[in-house]
Amino acid sequence: MSIDILTRCIHLENESRDKLYGAVSFPIFQTATFAHPSVGNSTGYDYSRLQNPTREQLEKVVAALENGIDALAFTSGMAAIATLMELFHPGDHLIVDSDLYGGTVRLFDNISEKNGIEVTKTDCTVENVEKEIKTNTKAIYIETPTNPMMNVIDIRKLGEIAKKNGIWLIVDNTFLSPYFQNPLDLGADIVVHSGTKYLGGHNDTLAGFLVTSDVEISEKLRFVIKTTGAGIPPFDSWLILRGIKTLGVRMEKAQENAFEIVHWLEQQKEVKRTVYPGLETHPGYETMKLQSRGFGAMVTFEVQDKEFAQSILKNVRLIQFAESLGGVETLITYPITQTHADVPKDLLEKNGINDRVLRLSVGIESDRDLIAEFERVFEEARRECYGGEKS
Ligand SMILES: *Cc1c(COP(=O)(O)O)cnc(C)c1O
Repeated sequence: MSIDILTRCIHLENESRDKLYGAVSFPIFQTATFAHPSVGNSTGYDYSRLQNPTREQLEKVVAALENGIDALAFTSGMAAIATLMELFHPGDHLIVDSDLYGGTVRLFDNISEKNGIEVTKTDCTVENVEKEIKTNTKAIYIETPTNPMMNVIDIRKLGEIAKKNGIWLIVDNTFLSPYFQNPLDLGADIVVHSGTKYLGGHNDTLAGFLVTSDVEISEKLRFVIKTTGAGIPPFDSWLILRGIKTLGVRMEKAQENAFEIVHWLEQQKEVKRTVYPGLETHPGYETMKLQSRGFGAMVTFEVQDKEFAQSILKNVRLIQFAESLGGVETLITYPITQTHADVPKDLLEKNGINDRVLRLSVGIESDRDLIAEFERVFEEARRECYGGEKS
């Protein structure tokens, strides 16, 4: 019988226990370099830019959770994506989804373009992607569900197109984590994670991952990481290893809370729409049921005017007004001035990101306290914006 992922999050690291005095928690090897027994002999480690036992342990755990053959761990999600872009050459062409994390858009628009990599942004439906493939196209790059508008992309179908055309499908799986979705199993070639989010889970450490099931891609990435040096340090590796042990229970509780909040939001007359792929009315609901084991805990909602949105941000207390996601704390963000500040205006409009849209990363607090917080915050906002008339 296969071992459940809840258990795998906790016990994957025990393989090496015998060699490590039975340590239940994998040790932090806080060393920059490793002494050699003799010329031509190595302990398996030479210098921590290349590899460090604690980082290696983290990489093994993440590779196993994503069903890949290799995972590389970086200092941040953006460091992972910047390293990934080193696989491409001037003149190469990428098809990328038009609703991506703002930092990724900034990287593509400013750094990849400068390096001669051509990027076409489109809604990555099968038809649109097939239309954009050219002789120099090397990869398709997507997130699903997308940030922050929660569009769902069919990974299997894009995987088939990629295979047919001899190009790579790259999936940023940050929003669902390997607990709810495994893109490599659905035909992706490379999985990207901001480990800062659900994998770490405590809003205390930056991390990033690239995971693959292709030997050649893994070798190329290993060369770049040792050469450019963005590998995650030992202590941060340990913090992420520690976070992963509770990935399963955190994801389950956060999702439960997300459903509660979504149902509450849907009953408020100031809320024009609530975007959550776990709602049967969401256009991506059926696709998600086919490719994921859950819907996650990211919720986007639009209120009826800008003043109301800003009043919510001013009045939150238990919920914090902060960028980022995937931690135990519930956070609320204002994509237009935060995560998506560098996304071109026409793209924002097209994606429906305006000054009335707020994004929630639902945490694992008590659902009763979260709803009470929302009730209080909405009351304050009503008073401030509509002069105290009760709705
Ligand atoms: C946060 C995030 C990133 C960037 O990761 P960092 O760890 O902040 O560098 C990339 N993709 C998605 C979907 C993210 O949410």
